[in-house]
Amino acid sequence: MLNSGLTPAKSLSIEVAERICAERGARFTPLRRTALEVLLEFNGPVSAYDFLPALAQRLGRRLAPPTAYRALGFLLEQGFICRIETRNAFTLATHLEDRNAGVFFLCDHCGATVEVDADGITELLAGRAAALGFEVGRRIVELQGICADCRYTTAAVEGQSQVVRGRRA
Ligand SMILES: [Zn+2]
Repeated sequence: MLNSGLTPAKSLSIEVAERICAERGARFTPLRRTALEVLLEFNGPVSAYDFLPALAQRLGRRLAPPTAYRALGFLLEQGFICRIETRNAFTLATHLEDRNAGVFFLCDHCGATVEVDADGITELLAGRAAALGFEVGRRIVELQGICADCRYTTAAVEGQSQVVRGRRA
């Protein structure tokens, strides 16, 4: 099950990507466009493992992994998608203007991924980096744990077993 704190697909579409690329003079080739279409269809995090065959199927031809990765690289570069590092997965960006705006919460149980705004955290880290004279290259902020749905389900199951134990007693 996939949740999203923000709704990426609404802000990003093929038309929006096309316009942004035209403004930047970036080449939105048919392959790159198809790669984005596939990601828009998943509308949630997709692992590289699942993405490659989906893209090949859409193109109707075999696809060398480096070709697929280059297409993903382009979409990352343009800020259309984000990489979830600890999952080797990709998801649509929620902030087209700011690539480092969000923080990911990842459920270890069901795989749900939620990106939330992290303005305070971004400012805090930027301040700490500046104080250290540290030039930040890549920023990865991912929190792993158990989502609300899974916590609720687990609690319900535990509650049931207590009832069963109560009856036996
Ligand atoms: Zn979960």
